[in-house]
Amino acid sequence: MSAPIIIAIDGYSSCGKSTLAKQLANVLNYKYVDTGAMYRALTLYLLRNQIDIHHPEMVASALPQIHISFGLEPNSQEQFTILNGENIENEIRVNSRVASAVSTVSAQPEVRKFLVKQQQEFGKEKGIVMDGRDIGTVVFPHAELKLFITAEPNIRAQRRLDELQEKNQDTSFEEVLANLQKRDLMDTTRADSPLVKAKDAIEIDNSNLSREEQLNKVLALIKGLNGQSV
Ligand code: C5P
Repeated sequence: MSAPIIIAIDGYSSCGKSTLAKQLANVLNYKYVDTGAMYRALTLYLLRNQIDIHHPEMVASALPQIHISFGLEPNSQEQFTILNGENIENEIRVNSRVASAVSTVSAQPEVRKFLVKQQQEFGKEKGIVMDGRDIGTVVFPHAELKLFITAEPNIRAQRRLDELQEKNQDTSFEEVLANLQKRDLMDTTRADSPLVKAKDAIEIDNSNLSREEQLNKVLALIKGLNGQSV
């Protein structure tokens, strides 16, 4: 068994980062942390408690009351997100207010400091796959493997729409595409930790790759890392 590593996966909204991260965590028996879920959970707390997300001081003063963790469904072993003891996985995925507000919240330096600290704690022992926007640049700048995932916007919007429709959410392709594009713009242009490809990240455009093809590509990369065995 080779030494555990850190795998950092960054990329635009809905480009399949989490799917890949989960597959890798499964195959390698690594921990998986979805940092987007942490920003979404924090945003949900603010919305539920009517804290004005446009006032960074008010947001910052709420942070000590927010506790985010992850649990595992006993049967499916699917991971879910917990906010102050409550499973809020479904709500953070389908609530369109969360999707609209999250990039405003995630641009705030105090919010980032608060969550990045926890994310770095999760990775202390290595053996972790983490996906987000700043993992290879800020959270784990020394990660052994950094991936930057992209896909064409229309393909990403269609995948996200399929996911929402599976959850019986009534929305349109145009609405989903507009939300993705708005978040991408905000995430790439914010002053603190914008989404950029780390210099040493490997870019994968998965527009025309199946999930299995993408996974195999990455497993081959891992094998190539200093003779790692998978
Ligand atoms: O990955 P997901 O689409 O769930 O992320 C939701 C939002 O959280 C992103 O649009 C971004 O604003 C924010 N985010 C971030 N940094 C991360 C992960 C997510 O700013 N590492």
